[in-house]
Amino acid sequence: MPPSPHEDLPRAIAAVQRAARVTRAVQRQIDPGSLEKGDKSPVTTADFASQAVVCETLGTDTPLVGEEDAAELRGGSANFLDRVVTAVAEAGLDADGETVCSWIDRGGHDGSGDRYWTLDPIDGTKGFLRGQQYAISLALIEAGEIVLGVLGCPNLPAEGVGCDRPLEDDVKGILQWAVRGQGAYCQSLTAEGVDQSTQLSASEVTAAKAVRMCESVESGHSSHSHSARIAARLGIEVDPVRLDSQAKYALVARGDAEAYLRLPTRPGYQEKIWDHAGGVIVLQEAGGRVSDVEGRPLDFARGSTLAGNRGVIATAAAVHDEVLSTVAAVLAEDSSGHATS
Ligand code: AMP
Ligand code: MG
Repeated sequence: MPPSPHEDLPRAIAAVQRAARVTRAVQRQIDPGSLEKGDKSPVTTADFASQAVVCETLGTDTPLVGEEDAAELRGGSANFLDRVVTAVAEAGLDADGETVCSWIDRGGHDGSGDRYWTLDPIDGTKGFLRGQQYAISLALIEAGEIVLGVLGCPNLPAEGVGCDRPLEDDVKGILQWAVRGQGAYCQSLTAEGVDQSTQLSASEVTAAKAVRMCESVESGHSSHSHSARIAARLGIEVDPVRLDSQAKYALVARGDAEAYLRLPTRPGYQEKIWDHAGGVIVLQEAGGRVSDVEGRPLDFARGSTLAGNRGVIATAAAVHDEVLSTVAAVLAEDSSGHATS
């Protein structure tokens, strides 16, 4: 077996794979009836358990900026903590409640240091609850640069957009990973170790009207009305694909879409680093381009948020400039009274 392209890659892949065993097990048990009553406990159980498993697998030598915090878990019901412990056991880890909380606490770093992991244990919680797309996203940041990323998408088929498919047992899920300067790769989520046999490359489309766009399902996370106007102005006739999570980066990285637009819906929202770091490095290493809506590079040196940026435009390389100038033109029309939902 060839040497791994980065010494931290094997354990980062193992961490995401183990976490996916947990999230899959919890997602299979979701009772649609409880969701109708607004019960979000499956996703919170899986969120905590996924973060615990990733933190434990990575060890303690590098801090981690994670989305979850165990304070809520410690202060909650014993019954809920038991469910998290049971979910963690799906990854083969036998631990008591306090140990699981201590693993989750390892993810409490604020992103102020020179070197840290960032993790979204379940990105796309709404998709997770609907039985659709979600991702486990892990990245290593050094001196403000993403140097390694692993993106696990348990419900994404190996090909195509697959966004509307309900949870199906035959979907094995995919794992994309990238190391800065060494390309991006895709392997089955269940494959052993590091597999460099399938390299990712983003689309080489050059005509803006041929761009296939993807965006959030939630119009509160990215403005659907703006994206529709941008698409019309670019001459795009096909509807955007809507899916939750960083699986959108995965589609652009493997050439199943040319653009992922994340258009601000409210002033002052700061994107979280864990919502982007894993997907951004995979797409960049697959040959794509990523900026904010004003064309600035995403700045991962500002702690746990992208405080210096607004929105995200992630595209195949050749169409980035044209998409970006069209985004700028449409957003500039804002004052003319268009809706932003
Ligand atoms: P998506 O799956 O594309 O809908 O993105 C999910 C992520 O959106 C979550 O992980 C949240 O951190 C993030 N989010 C929450 N509120 C907003 C907002 N107002 N604008 C952009 N992203 C948001
Ligand atoms: Mg997220």
